[in-house]
Amino acid sequence: MAPEAPPTAGLPLRWSDLRPGGDAGLGSALAHFLGVPAVQIECSGTAALVIALSALRAAQPRRDEIVAPAYTCPLVALAAAHCGLRLRLCDLRPGSLDLCTGSLAALCGPRTLAVLPTHLAGRVTDVAPARAIAHAAGARVIEDAAQALGARQATGACIGTGSDMVFFSMAVGKGLTLYEGGALVVADPALRAACARAAATLAPWRRGWEWRRSLELIGYAALYRPAGLPLAYGLPLRRALARGDRVGAAGDDFDDAIPLHRVGRWRQAVGVRALERLPAWLAESEPRARNRIALLHDQVPALQVLQDSPAVPGARGTWPTLLVLMPDAASRETALRALWGAGLGVSLPFVHALPDYPRYARCIAREADEDWPNARDFARRVIAISNSPWLPDAGFARVCDTLRRAIGTRP
Ligand SMILES: *Cc1c(COP(=O)(O)O)cnc(C)c1O
Repeated sequence: MAPEAPPTAGLPLRWSDLRPGGDAGLGSALAHFLGVPAVQIECSGTAALVIALSALRAAQPRRDEIVAPAYTCPLVALAAAHCGLRLRLCDLRPGSLDLCTGSLAALCGPRTLAVLPTHLAGRVTDVAPARAIAHAAGARVIEDAAQALGARQATGACIGTGSDMVFFSMAVGKGLTLYEGGALVVADPALRAACARAAATLAPWRRGWEWRRSLELIGYAALYRPAGLPLAYGLPLRRALARGDRVGAAGDDFDDAIPLHRVGRWRQAVGVRALERLPAWLAESEPRARNRIALLHDQVPALQVLQDSPAVPGARGTWPTLLVLMPDAASRETALRALWGAGLGVSLPFVHALPDYPRYARCIAREADEDWPNARDFARRVIAISNSPWLPDAGFARVCDTLRRAIGTRP
């Protein structure tokens, strides 16, 4: 089979990570890595968000809305629905992952429980204005750093530590993985205790789920390598694309039911062992990304490559993928048709802006005249290029070439 680059630069596991026993304290290992007092381990990023929202809601039952970016993971919508919360969507700044402050100010009010600035694809976004607006309305800020474990502020502090809460995902493809896992960091000790109590009742030990995730993790460790990816990732991807199922191809087809359970000792120990290699892995991925961004600028100057927000100078994001914005939707379509499923690690972060998935429409509260022009424009022009070391330079050069031709040949 032809080689297949994975869509993101996920940290590969080693067989030795899977040995029995070891230190099951993934929370303390992550707290040390992130430089925070404590980390609560949950069974997914979505579960961490559900726990956080449930704890906040219990303290402020009259606040029944959350605000998230209009281009984000549909699991955020499912988490809101699970908690019985109305999800309001906020537009982005043009060509940016930062929340539009004007839209955010209009959305926040006495019903707002929390605002979720999001660091998509490892990019550090501008959270300070969101904090000011949310706090002025009496709402909390939960940073969604599901795709940004290891990203740092200019001070070197972990992103999210200036907000009320931040959560990370340890799902497949998001960096460090337990197959599925999540991490929640809560600034205020009283609120941290409330989140731990919420987890004890909402996410108890469930043997069946832990067995299933453990087997899935072993399968992942076996197949997440150059020899396994054509079968484990490429084949199902090309089948989904052949049926015209882009939502399935992008992995945006989530189950309504959110599993909630404790993460077992063995999977935590696997995470502790893999975490030891994460700093070096992230340190290698940054220069690789910088080199490839320089190539993109040089070869395809009409492209915009997403960087950490210019509003947060000195921030150091992570680089699971490179996000690029094509000049228009037509050139993006041309490029996508040539590259998605071609084994070169090109994909979409999410297929649509969140309001544009029919299957998640019921989770979103929208006013009649509401629109999200910048988020929709972003969704139509974005492409993600893997920053995996398993995408060889020759493959990356082919991606550059195809992007250039897609732009050159548009009508
Ligand atoms: C993946 C993701 C989540 C949910 O994390 P899981 O661990 O997959 O449940 C939330 N927000 C964003 C932006 C994500 O990419």
